[in-house]
This record gives sequence, structure tokens and C-alpha cells, in this order.
Amino acid sequence: MIQDISPSVLYNQYAIETPHDEDMVFSFQGRNILIHEKDGVIKCPTVSDIMKAGYSKDELIYLFAVDDMKFFLLLTPQEIKVEGFRYDILFILRRSEPKTLAFAGETAYHLYVWYRDNKFCGRCGHETVHDEKQRALKCPHCGNIIFPKIAPAIIVGVTNGDKIVITRYAGREYKGMSLVAGFCEIGETAEDTVRREVMEEVGLKVKNIKYYKTQPWGFDQNLLLGYFCEADGSTEIVRDEGELAVAEWVDRKDITDEMGKVSMTAEMIEYFRVNGYSK
Ligand SMILES: [Zn+2]
Repeated sequence: MIQDISPSVLYNQYAIETPHDEDMVFSFQGRNILIHEKDGVIKCPTVSDIMKAGYSKDELIYLFAVDDMKFFLLLTPQEIKVEGFRYDILFILRRSEPKTLAFAGETAYHLYVWYRDNKFCGRCGHETVHDEKQRALKCPHCGNIIFPKIAPAIIVGVTNGDKIVITRYAGREYKGMSLVAGFCEIGETAEDTVRREVMEEVGLKVKNIKYYKTQPWGFDQNLLLGYFCEADGSTEIVRDEGELAVAEWVDRKDITDEMGKVSMTAEMIEYFRVNGYSK
């Protein structure tokens, strides 16, 4: 999965760090990221590149480190111009090398969205400032403290013997094979979310819900919670046509390797292809 960067390590502890010329900088605009890309290898600009483009080190926000490489965010209202770099769609990170930069990029994007969307206090409207001791924005007027937000969501492999429900989303950036998935609503457990989403998206009752793994998915500010379960009773799929273009039972032996190794969805489908629903 995209976060599996071992032996490299993401150090996400908050700190006030001084940027050095060779440190890396992420710049985003909407769902685009500033990169240099050649033959599937991506680079983001260094602090030195950013300074040559007329920006100062004071404008950089420290994000995290991967091993001894430090990453900063440049938060600007418009696209910036850095020679040799261009803005490209964020999802370019899904299939690019090196994997450490792909994971750093999606994690940086999660933080970018949070910094961008919390410039002003939601309680009183005053401009927020950075807390010095922890990853938080605070309101100097009313004292509101705003921590980074992570939205939990479930992904579930609904199984029936050697078959699994494979879906494809309608009207989304990602067009590949998927599993039933959805956000946890306030007031429900992740298992409640599994039961509700499976019923809403494909009209099935489920049983024997079994935890698989989790995945941080900064592309959509999620923490994904993976589960497998078994259909309970009828196996007739009633597809939510607004949400899904396709929802069908696919036998383990008919699963094709079209997915890469980035998402937990891909890993879960591959896990089922090899192992089935193992209790
Ligand atoms: Zn306030």
C-alpha cells in the first residue's frame, strides 16, 4: 500500500523547523500538485528552487520528515511558477516513483487542505494563528483550537463463498475496480457503517464482519478501515445507480491484476483472490 515505505519511516511529530536549501517543498492548487516528472519518476521542488522563484523561507510551514528528508508546505492563493516544474493532477502520485515521495505527497495534501480551510476561526471568524507546541491552529480572539481533521471511512469486501462484490464508481476521478465503501456517520460504529453502506450501495444484508487493516488516505482526508464480511440471506445485488456504475459478484479465479499496489482496496481484492474469506 502507498504507506508501506519501509525501511523508510515517516516522522510526523510536530516541530518548528528551519528550512534548509535542500529540503523539499509541496505546493498544491485545488487537487493539483507542483512536480517535475519524467518517466514516472517525480520530484517536488527544493527550498532553493522556491527561493529562486521569489518566495522566502518564512512562508514555509514544516510538515514532517521521511528519514532525514524534511518536507515543507508553501501555501499560496494562486499557482506559483518554478522553472522546470508544473502542476499536475494529485492522483499522479498513485503510480509514481519513488514511493516515499508518493506517500509524502498524499500526506502533505491532507495537511494542505486542513491549513487552507482553517485560515479563519469557524466559531468567531477571526484569523487563526499556528500553535507553537502542537499541530493545531488557534484563534487568538476566542481561544478556539483547531486540530487536523481525519474522516474515518470503511472499505468492505462482501463475500459469498468464492465470490466478492466488485464495484465501479459512477462519475469519479478513479475508474478502476473497487469495493463497497463509505464514510462513517456520526453516532455509528464502523461495523454499523459496513452494514449501512452495503445495504445502501448493493442492497445486501451481511454477517461475520471481520477487521482487515487500516490505511491513511490523505487524497480524501480519510482513515480507511478495511473489513471483510459474508452476505446474509439473499445474494441478489440491488445497485445504487447514482453512486455506482457497476456492482457485481466476481469469482476469485476471474479477478484480474489491473490495480497496482497502492490502495487498500487493491490489496484486499488481491488478498481475497489468494485466500478467499478465511475465518
Ligand atoms: Zn475564534
